[in-house]
Amino acid sequence: MNDVTSLSSPPSEWAQATLTIDLGALAANWQLLAARVAPAECGAVVKADAYGIGIEAAVPTLLKAGCKTFFVAHASEGVRVRACAPQATIYVLNGLREEAITTLIDNNLRPVLGSMENLAAWQNVPGMRACALHVDTGMNRLGLVPQDVATAMSKDIAVDLLMTHFVSSEDGGDSTNDIQIARFGAIRHLAPHARTSLANSSALFLPQKPYGDLVRPGYALYGGNPTPDAANPMRAVVHLDAPILQVRTIEGGDKVGYNAQWTAKRRTRLATIGIGYADGLPRAAMSTDIRPGGEAMVAGVRCPFAGRVSMDLTVIDVTDVPEAALKGASAQLLCAEITVDDLGLRSATIGYEILTRLGARYHRRYVG
Ligand SMILES: *Cc1c(COP(=O)(O)O)cnc(C)c1O
Repeated sequence: MNDVTSLSSPPSEWAQATLTIDLGALAANWQLLAARVAPAECGAVVKADAYGIGIEAAVPTLLKAGCKTFFVAHASEGVRVRACAPQATIYVLNGLREEAITTLIDNNLRPVLGSMENLAAWQNVPGMRACALHVDTGMNRLGLVPQDVATAMSKDIAVDLLMTHFVSSEDGGDSTNDIQIARFGAIRHLAPHARTSLANSSALFLPQKPYGDLVRPGYALYGGNPTPDAANPMRAVVHLDAPILQVRTIEGGDKVGYNAQWTAKRRTRLATIGIGYADGLPRAAMSTDIRPGGEAMVAGVRCPFAGRVSMDLTVIDVTDVPEAALKGASAQLLCAEITVDDLGLRSATIGYEILTRLGARYHRRYVG
């Protein structure tokens, strides 16, 4: 992997940890999903700064891979995508805010309308500009209830995409998926000229193949596992390395970190690494005497966290790393052996949150 871009992030000699983002893996992940769903079109969800990896790096990579349609949550994200992708189709998922209408028009962004208020506001915009209609088939979050779709389609609006969103597509055995597919199927004829879109990452792996005309993967593009009960078919995109700042040896019975929550069970060698919760490493990954927490890889050895994750620092147990191998080594928090899903699980959260909270203090290296 060669270092191809370094966007505006702290240089490596100042920053405490390095985030390496493999854009080759991102492109390969998109192509894998695109081939899976063909002849349906594969779009890309790049909300939340492309799940933390950076819109300005992700969008050109996805364009080059062949992606033509992007989804963001906010109009402001759509403006950033438009700057990278003058020709692309861009949908704004979070509905329509009247204050954002000028921004949507100026940047040729298509709102995803999800309420009668949204519809009324877009109907007032001259020129019958394209938009999507979001139908809520069970999430009870955003979107029209199915009973309102007929009324919506009687208005003067140019709906080019009819979409819904799954509640639990990562669980292939959940009957909610069938219910949502049936509810969507029952209203589909009301918008005969619109394309359809149902599927997020995990839904691309459902036995029902609910691809519609356009799929909307996010998480899987960035290396997250869309099939939590099976091996991850995607390539890791994000790698995280923290420098070892100090190594020390403590005796059995000695305690580590704030509030002395972790007790050494043996003579223990500790390494203090330069990453903490201010960098997006969840504090919930702390390791205490009553529950294990996160892990890091050092010189190929799995090293458990010792004590609380603090703001800028975390302590790990490197007793099993040969002393010679520690010299000049760094600690890998995200790597081939430790995925975003693993770290999420050990932090009482999900890999999605790990990615979207990746910190601003890292030195970012874009490779591939
Ligand atoms: C975030 C989002 C997606 C992408 O979901 P993943 O699980 O990350 O693939 C798709 N559709 C909608 C409406 C979303 O909000």
